[in-house]
Amino acid sequence: MALHGDTWRCDPATGAVAVPIYQTSSYEFQDTAHAARLFALQEMGHLYTRLSNPTTDVLEQRLAALEGGAAGLAVASGQAATTYSVLNIAQSGDNIVSSTDLYGGTWALFANTLKRLGIETRFVDPADPEAFARATDERTRAYYAETLPNPKLEVFPIREVAEIGRRLGVPLIVDNTAAPVIARPLDDGAAIVVYSTTKYIGGHGTSLGGMIIDGGNFPWEAHGERFPLLTQPDPAYHGAVWTEAAKPLGPVAYLLRARGVLARDIGAVLSPFNAFQCIQGVETLPLRMKQHCSSARLVADFLAGHESVSRVIYPGLQSGESRQRADRYLHGGYGSLIGFELAGGVEAGRRFIDSLELFYHVANIGDARSLAIHPASTTHSQLTPEEQVMTGVTPGYVRLSIGLEHPDDILADLKQALARA
Ligand code: PLP
Repeated sequence: MALHGDTWRCDPATGAVAVPIYQTSSYEFQDTAHAARLFALQEMGHLYTRLSNPTTDVLEQRLAALEGGAAGLAVASGQAATTYSVLNIAQSGDNIVSSTDLYGGTWALFANTLKRLGIETRFVDPADPEAFARATDERTRAYYAETLPNPKLEVFPIREVAEIGRRLGVPLIVDNTAAPVIARPLDDGAAIVVYSTTKYIGGHGTSLGGMIIDGGNFPWEAHGERFPLLTQPDPAYHGAVWTEAAKPLGPVAYLLRARGVLARDIGAVLSPFNAFQCIQGVETLPLRMKQHCSSARLVADFLAGHESVSRVIYPGLQSGESRQRADRYLHGGYGSLIGFELAGGVEAGRRFIDSLELFYHVANIGDARSLAIHPASTTHSQLTPEEQVMTGVTPGYVRLSIGLEHPDDILADLKQALARA
C-alpha cells in the first residue's frame, strides 16, 4: 500500500515513474463549458492548486489507501488538519468533546482559538470512556483524541469511545501522528483520521504537512440534524448538500466539503513540493516504523534498568489496563516515543539534554534522527500548571523520539549523557 496503494503507475504525460512535482497554481481549461462544469462540481478535474494538484493527489490517495479510508485531503500542517477536521462539522454554538491527552498545540487550539470562534471544547479523561457520553449534548459535533498521545503515552480507548459515538451519532476524530501503520483507528471505529505528516510519514524532518482522511464509514445522513453543515444546503458552495453531492463519488461527503469549502476558503493547503517529499517518506514508512519501534524497545529496557532513572513511560513497559489498550490498538511495536524522569529532577533533566551529542534537542518527533526535549519548558509551556498536570507533563519529564541510527550508537549517547546528568 505504501508503494502501490493509489492509482498512480507512471506519469501519463512522460512515463516518469517517480511522481513529478507539478509545481503549478492553475490548469488550462479546454473551453468555457469545461471550466463551468469543473466549477459546478459536475466534472472532476484540477482547476486551481488550492483545490487540488496532481502531485498532492497521489499522496492523498496513497495515504487514504494505507489507512483504509475513502479519501484524503492534504493540508499545510498537522495543525491545519486538526483545525479543518473540526471546522468541517462544527460552527459557533457547537461543542466537541476531547481527550485531555493532547499535543500542547492542539490543546491551545481547542482551549483558546476555537473557543474564540464560539466552538466549546469539553475536555474529559480518556481513562473513563463513558466520560465522553456524559459530556455529549445535542450540540456535540465530534469526539477528538490522539492514538498515542505524548507525554502520557497512554493509548486511547479507540473502540470504546467510537462505539459510544456511534450510539449517540457523534464521529470520533483520531490524530494518529505518533502511530502510523502500527495503529489503524478506522478499523477500530474512528470516522476521521488526521496526521501531522511532518513527523513519521515525511520521516526526515524536512517538510511540514498534514492530512485528513475520511473513513467513509460514518452515517452523516442518519444523524442529519447534528450535521447541518453536511446535510443542509451550503450557501458557501451554490447551495450544495454535501451528502447528496458526494453520492456519485462514494462515501466522501465529509472530505468533499473539507476540500470544497475549507481548503478553498481558508487555503492552508500542502505545496506540491512538500507533497513530493511526503510521498518519498510514505514509500519507506512501514520499514522505518519497524526500526523506530525495535530500537525504542531496546532504549526503554535500557532506561528502565538504569540507576539514575526513576520512571520510564513507554507503552511496552506499562501494566494493567494501559498495557491491554496498547496491545489492543498497536500492532508490531509500541512506537518510538519514550518518556522518562531522572531521579535528580529538573536540573538533572537539563544537564542530561545539554550533554547529548548524537540526539538533537528539537521540538519535533518522528525524524530519522534521534531527538530529545523537555516538554514542561517547551512544547507544553503555554499550558497552565493545571493543564500541564492534566496532560501528564511533570517538571522532570524528558521525551525521546528514537531515530534510525544504529541502536548501539543511540545507547552509547544515552549512557554518556546519563553519566553527566
Ligand atoms: N499532532 C501531534 C500529535 C503532534 O505531535 C504535532 C506536532 O507538532 C501536531 C499534531 C501538529 O503538527 P504540525 O507541527 O505539522 O502542525
